[in-house]
Amino acid sequence: MSTVYASVASYAYDELKPKLFEMMRSMDMGAIAQGSRVLVKPNLLAPASPDKAMVTHPMVLRAVVEYVLEKGASIQVSDSPAMGSFQRVLKESGIRAALRDLDVEFQEFRSSVVADVGAPFHRIELARDALSAEVLINLPKLKTHSQMLLTLGVKNLFGCVVGYRKPQWHMRAGVDREMFGLLLYRIYSVVKPAFTILDGILAMEGQGPGRSGSPRHVGVVLGSTDAVALDVTASRMVGVDPLRVFTNLAAAKAGGMPHSIHVAGKLPTIENYALPRITPLVFGPRITRKHMRKYLIQRPVPNERLCTGCGECRRICPAGAILQDGKKLLFDYDCCIRCYCCIEVCPHGAMKAEVPPLGRVFNRLIQMTS
Ligand code: SF4
Ligand code: SF4
Repeated sequence: MSTVYASVASYAYDELKPKLFEMMRSMDMGAIAQGSRVLVKPNLLAPASPDKAMVTHPMVLRAVVEYVLEKGASIQVSDSPAMGSFQRVLKESGIRAALRDLDVEFQEFRSSVVADVGAPFHRIELARDALSAEVLINLPKLKTHSQMLLTLGVKNLFGCVVGYRKPQWHMRAGVDREMFGLLLYRIYSVVKPAFTILDGILAMEGQGPGRSGSPRHVGVVLGSTDAVALDVTASRMVGVDPLRVFTNLAAAKAGGMPHSIHVAGKLPTIENYALPRITPLVFGPRITRKHMRKYLIQRPVPNERLCTGCGECRRICPAGAILQDGKKLLFDYDCCIRCYCCIEVCPHGAMKAEVPPLGRVFNRLIQMTS
């Protein structure tokens, strides 16, 4: 049986800190020893202020760091942001300022080592610091994800794939969401965080996980030594069948789903949590998939009013599917693998996923006949 600790909370530090200390004490069981090296991996997706709900809140991170320091361990905070520099994310998120008086090292994931995550992926390069830490604490943010439905504890560890290797893996595995879910589950199994604490106080709903999503007050923090149990609990909390989340599905198929989950503490029920629009990514006979993908499956579309022509989307596109003529973006939807990296990195929320007209008709027909 796995235990998930739940605590109703706000970012008021005087209240949050004792709650997170109690949660950490319940899970710790001596794992954080004096002199040990602890690495904390928050969600530092992109430069954004805490009210955008894109990154782990500085107060959650501060409380966890204070707990570790009280144990006499050394602590490093690391991630590999999908966009923007690590230093800029620390500044704009308020994390640098919030932790200024604490003895903590901030270090972007830079060097990688090869790890074997098993078939069909086998060798994958993961952040050296994440694999060599004595204790890894995973600090995800509760957000919707237009490709994976929700991003929670298991998905957060994709940040251990360093820099531009991320879109390469999207290219290889992200065409098929089940396959990508399996990749994420395998990375989690290799990285093995000792604890996962989910910041679900100001969460994100709608077209997450970037600027197209909408902040939503949920007011809860979840913690567990088992990130899959935590992800299943968080999915249920927001009214989502856990097996609709591809990382949970992958865990279930790989035999990594806990037999039972005990929730200790108060878990709120969140009504009407807005999920992103997602359509099947790849289906039907292989020979027809290319055309189906082109005419039926949602694709990235820029909003010309919001687009500044900064080119971030073009630079990150792993398929080379975006061309730029001055400020105008041109898409090759035959090449586009629907990884949605361009939506995730756009600093102006100018890109969104839209179903083509034929796809909308098709979806309506499916709904009418189901
Ligand atoms: S869509 Fe976004 S990332 Fe792409 S060029 Fe426009 S503003 Fe930049
Ligand atoms: S255009 Fe966007 S969704 Fe398509 S492959 Fe490039 S980054 Fe991925």
